[in-house]
Amino acid sequence: MMRLPRHLALLLLGAAALVQGVAHAAPAAKAADQAFAEEFGDRFFKAYWPLHPDQAIAVGYYQVADKLIVPDAKSRAAELHFLDGQLARLRSYKPETLDDAHRTDQALLQNELESERWHLDGLRDWQWDPSGYNVADSFALLLNTEYAPLDQRLRTVLKRLRGVPAYYAAAEHDIAKPTREHTQLAIDQNQGALDVFGPDLEKQIAGSGLSKAERAQFVTRIAAARTAMQHYIAWLKILDGQLAQDGTARSFRLGRELYERKFAYDIQSGGSAEALYGRAKLEKERLVSRMDGLADQLWPKYMADAPKPADRFDKIGQLIGKMSEQHAPRENFVGTVQQMIPVLEQWVTDHQLIDLDPSKPLQVRQTPSYEQGVAIAGIEAPGPYDPTAKTYFNVTPLDSYSAERAESFLREYNRWILPVFIIHEAIPGHYVQLIYANRSPSRIKSIFGNGAMIEGWAVYSERMMLESGYGGNTPEAWLMYSKWNLRSVTNTILDYSVHVQDMSREGAIRLLTHEAFQSQEEASAKWRRVQLSSVQLASYFSGYSEIYDFREKLKQEQGANFDLKRFHEQFLSYGSSPVKLIKQLMQNQGK
Ligand code: ZN
Ligand code: ZN
Repeated sequence: MMRLPRHLALLLLGAAALVQGVAHAAPAAKAADQAFAEEFGDRFFKAYWPLHPDQAIAVGYYQVADKLIVPDAKSRAAELHFLDGQLARLRSYKPETLDDAHRTDQALLQNELESERWHLDGLRDWQWDPSGYNVADSFALLLNTEYAPLDQRLRTVLKRLRGVPAYYAAAEHDIAKPTREHTQLAIDQNQGALDVFGPDLEKQIAGSGLSKAERAQFVTRIAAARTAMQHYIAWLKILDGQLAQDGTARSFRLGRELYERKFAYDIQSGGSAEALYGRAKLEKERLVSRMDGLADQLWPKYMADAPKPADRFDKIGQLIGKMSEQHAPRENFVGTVQQMIPVLEQWVTDHQLIDLDPSKPLQVRQTPSYEQGVAIAGIEAPGPYDPTAKTYFNVTPLDSYSAERAESFLREYNRWILPVFIIHEAIPGHYVQLIYANRSPSRIKSIFGNGAMIEGWAVYSERMMLESGYGGNTPEAWLMYSKWNLRSVTNTILDYSVHVQDMSREGAIRLLTHEAFQSQEEASAKWRRVQLSSVQLASYFSGYSEIYDFREKLKQEQGANFDLKRFHEQFLSYGSSPVKLIKQLMQNQGK
């Protein structure tokens, strides 16, 4: 449960590192399966990547890396034409003729292509989100990833640089009535992007084997690229000033109609956003009333004679504040995390929760310096085209933090919450899900996998571990877990309230700090995130509640025959498919 979408991106990229070529072509595969696998395996992606070179670079496919698409009306028309053609081909396969693996691939890909179509034609965020225009990430990846010798990578960069002026000219041409929030984000991010074309790049060129002519060309093209970016930034600043004056800016709030549509594409649960919001409000009340009881129980132990506030939120908040003093030392934080991994592995095995794969041990390491500052810890899996296929659990040491920042972080991830966080990220959360996904390799699922299922599994695994007795079943463990879980629940409430119901900044901050026990700092960061993104914040609770409800239903139906370990292993065997599809497939199997 990291705060940055990037975390999700890394996971999605990693889900099928081992795939090469057609994955499902077992000898007995039926004709339809074989045809589908041929058409929507490598052949599809060979056509897809040249239209999406940035995404290609991000997943480690470099064959189109010298291309920079100019985001104008012409390229959008070409994209629509491509999407319509592929959608027609995709729909020509009858789902009932395909096996489970291909049927889920088909559903995921269809959803993806329809969603891309809607972004171009319905949501039209290319018009109102200026932060969508930024060339830096792909250039940075090409310069920092050693996928090929330096000279070769620099020549790719040199070719790619040609298109930068036309790229920003197209942006300025097409942006109309953007939101001020995304405009300001674009100004900040493009300002930062200039660094990619600064002294480090000059040093790389100086140390390379490039010819004199190539170096001269580089100087010219870098200058032109920088000028184009600076022009874009200056143009956005003027635009932002105009928007502030004449009040024609678009609201960052999506509104009911667009929100529901985006929710349907991004979450793929089959239910509505409104229904999930209702469910989240009930869950919040359930959690808080449980915390209320636990707080009464724990008050004397931690607060001694301190007067107990009448307001339950104040009471719970004060107790959590006091308990948060119990946390790991700042020194050797990476080591602290490292020690937890074998403990969790042992627990999962001893309690027969799920089979682990001892041949693929998780490697805990210090976050590489160029990635630090993004998140405190998280799984980093290789892209589907990366042959090295190593998965790391990156942990950022706290050495570089100020004393105050380190303390605030350690209190947040205190002795009860830190293990829950590791459960989420690693065992049996994201890392274990990834290993199971790799067993049914699918390039479509690794690239277009369902975020709500991935995050939902990680959030589900936290509660499942506590239910198995991890943490000692103490009131402390459940109180802190509830606070942590309340974050996912509140994310859903917040996202819907802000985008659909016009919740104010004050209302949002109060919800997060007073009713969900978050720090001012965390709440402010969340307010910023909800202004700049939509629906993603709802994915955690959506996936979690779907999985949990489904498990409870099966338990009811199967009674004494229900086997938790079998449920987990079967559930994960379909890769990163939407929970809705997994449910259908598991129920069909049961018949
Ligand atoms: Zn997560
Ligand atoms: Zn402390």
